[in-house]
Amino acid sequence: MQTCTRCLMDETVPNIVFDDNGYCNLCNEYLIRAQNEIWTHPDELGSLIDSVKKSRISKQDYDCVMGVSGGVDSCYALVVAVQNGLRPVAVHLDNGWNSNIAVRDIKNLLDRLKVPLVTEVLDWQGFRDLQVAFVKSGIPNWEIPTDHMITATLYRMAKRFSVKYILTGGNMTSEAIMPKSWMYDSRDATLIRSICAEHGALLRGRINIMSFLELAHAVFIKKIKYLPLLNYVHYDKEAAKQLLIDKFGWQDYGGKHYESIFTRFFQGYVLPLKYNIDKRKAYVSCAIMADQISREQAMKILDGPPMCESQIRIDRLYLLKKLRLSDKEFEDIMDAPNKSYFDYRNEGFIWGYRSGKSGVVMEKIRRFATKGV
Ligand SMILES: [Zn+2]
Repeated sequence: MQTCTRCLMDETVPNIVFDDNGYCNLCNEYLIRAQNEIWTHPDELGSLIDSVKKSRISKQDYDCVMGVSGGVDSCYALVVAVQNGLRPVAVHLDNGWNSNIAVRDIKNLLDRLKVPLVTEVLDWQGFRDLQVAFVKSGIPNWEIPTDHMITATLYRMAKRFSVKYILTGGNMTSEAIMPKSWMYDSRDATLIRSICAEHGALLRGRINIMSFLELAHAVFIKKIKYLPLLNYVHYDKEAAKQLLIDKFGWQDYGGKHYESIFTRFFQGYVLPLKYNIDKRKAYVSCAIMADQISREQAMKILDGPPMCESQIRIDRLYLLKKLRLSDKEFEDIMDAPNKSYFDYRNEGFIWGYRSGKSGVVMEKIRRFATKGV
């Protein structure tokens, strides 16, 4: 098993390539993206903030919509926005899986920042059926339903509040190294509908999937921008975490995206066991590339298992009960052959997951939606 000599990505990633130095294609691509997508010169942040402020129509209460999950990234992004004089409305998606700590963290933070919160509560039965369809699908991203609904909700809220900016806690420093084969574009409505149809989930009237046309309307007609605010500041995650703890009573829940119990179990148990994917490798590799931890520190983090046995047992019981799956059904799902996104109908040609003209449209949307100022 070859491991990159600079980051910690290894041959568990399909199609990983190493150059003569032993550096992998993922961290090489990171360096190129970092040059183009991190704008930490103070002028860049200043002009973004100006543009957001100017976009507010007088008498309006807000100038941007910001998603908040309760995690470090989205919480810290809110702090940056408020410190720079923006007037955000925070939007939280309740998909039924939030840990109590995350909910309390959000409330504490927003109270102190005096930022109003809108919580979008999904129809639980509808969302459960959608999630179960993905759990049965065999594809390695069971988080597509949640990610899709977060994006859809943010665009819909931006329209509702007539704002032109959606600012998120997305950032290069902790997310930019993520192999394509581990993920898929959660905006692909055709994939979602196809998986639902095949695995018996009825969405009609319960869960409102965002079609490509709805997204294109928001991006090109309404000209709503979707920007990762933390790419505009020097984002040091550990320092940000400490600030949230010291000033906002924020509590650590021990793992990236572990604010949701579903995510914790999926990343800590399902992905390593069923798909041979340990997402921690990508997270620590990002941190190495962003000079936030040493390669040796990162190796220590990966030494232990992603999740301890007792937590696995607790979460598994909780998850199966909530999804109404029996032990046998779940074991069959874990033993079933894995599938690819392309075993289902999809819009891969739009989202950059096909060869040939792949990604032309996605690239246009990305450029258009993220050209901040
Ligand atoms: Zn590498």
